[in-house]
This record gives sequence, C-alpha cells and structure tokens, in this order.
Amino acid sequence: MSEMSKKSIQLSHGGGGQEMNKLIKGLFFKAFDNSILRQEEDAAVLSFNGKTAFTTDSFTVSPLFFAGGNIGHLAIAGTVNDLAMMGAEPQYLSCSVIIEEGFEFDKLKTIVDSMANELKTSGAKIVCGDTKVVPKGCADGIFINTTGIGEIKQADISIHNIKADDVIIVSRDIGRHGATILMSREGLSLESDLSSDCTTLWPAVKILIDNDIDIHAMRDATRGGLAAVLNEWAQASNVGISVNEADIPVCDEVKGLCELYGFEPFDLANEGTFILAVSQAQAASVISLLQQFDFCPQAAIIGTVSDEHAGKVILNTPWGSSRYLDLPQGELLPRIC
Ligand code: MG
Repeated sequence: MSEMSKKSIQLSHGGGGQEMNKLIKGLFFKAFDNSILRQEEDAAVLSFNGKTAFTTDSFTVSPLFFAGGNIGHLAIAGTVNDLAMMGAEPQYLSCSVIIEEGFEFDKLKTIVDSMANELKTSGAKIVCGDTKVVPKGCADGIFINTTGIGEIKQADISIHNIKADDVIIVSRDIGRHGATILMSREGLSLESDLSSDCTTLWPAVKILIDNDIDIHAMRDATRGGLAAVLNEWAQASNVGISVNEADIPVCDEVKGLCELYGFEPFDLANEGTFILAVSQAQAASVISLLQQFDFCPQAAIIGTVSDEHAGKVILNTPWGSSRYLDLPQGELLPRIC
C-alpha cells in the first residue's frame, strides 16, 4: 500500500502546491493518460472535423456507490451518452472534481479508476480537468462535472424530427437506475439483486449508424424517465405519441419497488436506456441490431406516432383503457445523478 492510499484528501490537495501536484500526477494523470493530457498546458489543443456536439453535466448522486456503478462511472457514461444521443462519436472530455476535505483516498481512487475504465467503451479521452478541495461540510464527499465533445456521424437526429407513422423503441427495461438509488437509500440492498443500468451507449448507437438506420430522434431516458422523453418529443415535434403499457419492459424488482413506494416506472430515471423514433420500415432492423448487446436484450417497439392528440402522450393499459401519460411532477428523488 502506497503512503497516499492510507490517507484522506486534505485542503492542501487543492491548494496548487506540492500536495496537489502529487495527487494530480499520481492519480488523475495515471488513470486518464493520453498524449494531449500529458502536454500539461493551460488548455487542451484540439482539432475538429465538421459538425461537432458539445455537452456538459454535473454529478451529485447520493450514495456515491450503488449497485451497478458509482459516481465516476456515471460521470463518464452520462456525458458520453448525451453525445451519442446526437449521433456523435464521443472524443474529448473534461473532468472537474470538487472533493470534500477528509474524503478517503481509496474511495477517490476507485471512482477515478471506474472513470478510466468506462472511457474505454467509447474511446473518448479526458484532455483537461480541475481539482478543488472544499472544507469539511461544504460538499458531500465528491461532486464531478464532465463536459464532452464528439464528432457527429449522423446529422439531423432531433427532437423536432419525429414524424407521424414513426415507431417508438426502448432499448431495454426501464426504471433501473432510479429504483436502485431508491433501494440503497432505503437500505433494501440486501433483499434484491437489482442494479443500475448505468452504461455507455455509444457502441449500440454506432452499430445503428453503421447499418444505415435513419434515426429521427434519440434520447437517453435519464431524469424524468420515459415519461419525460415522450412528452418532450410530442411537444417538440407536435405529434401524438401512443404507447402500450404491456409492451414496455419493466423487471419484477422495479415493479415491486414502484408498488411499495407509489412510483411509476415510466417516471424513474435510467442511465443506460434510450428511446428512439424511426420509420416503421426500419423498426425490426433496429430491434435485432440492439438485441446483440447484453445491455439491450429487451429492446422493444412500445408505440407509434400519429397526428392525433398532437403534443400529448397516450398510455394504453393492458385492460383496454387509455390515459394521458403526463410529465412527472415535483422531485421524486433528488440527487439521482
Ligand atoms: Mg440526455
């Protein structure tokens, strides 16, 4: 065990002096090593080819470690997925961390190692970053911000681009991340093997693009879940979306937690689940391409788009009735990501 691994983070680790230098070189640079980062300039120097996607996200999830991932894993997958959802190949990321004084070094190392590991899935590189340490009580362990840039490989994927007669596809069963965080906060972890869906989606998106799937719209169903994505789409494209509850995959653990706490799986956050709108003609190809991935085994067509009920989402229940699926109200679970 190195001397540092027994220690916790001190204010001096963010002070710009020797201790900070040691932390950055010994931990972050080692884990994220690449030729741009190694230059150690004030800013990374990058070159771009054509249309470029650019996104940012801050991660404050509580607890920091949960079944199926941790805040570091999430900080990479979350930003990389926002690029992928625009048809962009994730290329460069920044990484800023705000660490609370006293945070265990070993935990920080685990988080940074999972970031490095998750980067491998997309091939994106962390090319710049920042480390701040705040006094005890001024943060909750660690907060991470990542910003990402990627080259657009398929243009015109847009929430404004959904057409009547499109079909709606979900990549897997919904609600896992939200249910997992809820479970760990309520201390139910031992009673279930439910885990977060947190993963990098770029490989699945790449295969769709490589196979000439004309993706009309695509979005990862994070905060607000499936219900938020579908409502945003119906309004942005001024179409009616109709989904069949019986076709929406939900695992038994998520169903059980929803019944127990009065939640709906459609409202729960996901971190490795995405929704697509494509033409009828390409829907079957999308399903078979997605099902090759072990994180999309239950990819399914869940609904259709039409000109009726423009701006609204209709949920058809298994009992033959239907109702509007509204945007989730209020804050179901704060600090979900
Ligand atoms: Mg997103």
